[in-house]
Parts: sequence; C-alpha cells; structure tokens
Amino acid sequence: MGLRNCLECGKLCMENPSKLCPECYAEEERHEYTISEYLRKTGKATIEEIHRDTGVKEKIIMRMLRSGRLFSDGLIGYPCEMCRQPIYEGRLCSDCSSGLAKKIQRSNEDRELERHAEYQRTGLRMYTKDEPKK
Ligand SMILES: [Zn+2]
Ligand SMILES: [Zn+2]
Repeated sequence: MGLRNCLECGKLCMENPSKLCPECYAEEERHEYTISEYLRKTGKATIEEIHRDTGVKEKIIMRMLRSGRLFSDGLIGYPCEMCRQPIYEGRLCSDCSSGLAKKIQRSNEDRELERHAEYQRTGLRMYTKDEPKK
C-alpha cells in the first residue's frame, strides 16, 4: 500500500480503489445518497439538472458515473461526446450517430460521383483528342 494524492482535494492519503481520501470518500457517499434520492423522485435527470438541484459538482457526478459506482444505466443524462447534448446511453446522441452514419454513406456516394466525374473527364479528354484539327 503506497501513498497517493486524493483525486478531489489533493491531500496525501493511503492508496485505495476510490482514489479519494477518507473525508472526500465520505463526502462522495453523501453525494451519492443525495443523488439517488433525487433520482428516485425525478426518474431521469441530466448531470446539469442534478447539479442545479442538488448542488453536487458536475465533475463529481461525472466521476461517479464513469467509475460505475453510481446508479443504474439510463437514469442520468451525460453529454454526447460530439455535440454535448444530454444522452442516456452510448457515447453519442442519436443525431450524432445517425449523422455519422450519413457521413459514411455520403463518402460512399462521393466515391461513386468521383468515379463518374473521372469517367466524364476521360471521355472528355478522348473527345478533345478526337476533335478535328483546325
Ligand atoms: Zn480528499
Ligand atoms: Zn450529439
């Protein structure tokens, strides 16, 4: 067991899986309780709403969410990795993931168009070459 700095307050403490000193760990447990009480009332909420209504820092909510110690899936909205709008599952909102799908589809279409344009260019070049000399 080594020493490490608490992730939250930076104080040196005994190394432990939570990466927090005992005080911050206790604090986080209080937050966890507050938030689960809050969610029991609201059902679903975004991190922003939780922060607004419970006063728990968004950073802390995110950390609890990532560490998986908090809440069952689908209750807390967290920002989409691309556009930051709140989502409840996955890493991207449906807009961004369908946008991605569209982008992939578009690049296939682009390739098709390019091939077509290339064909026309070649055709044109041939045509120019075959043009009668003046
Ligand atoms: Zn601490
Ligand atoms: Zn998005």
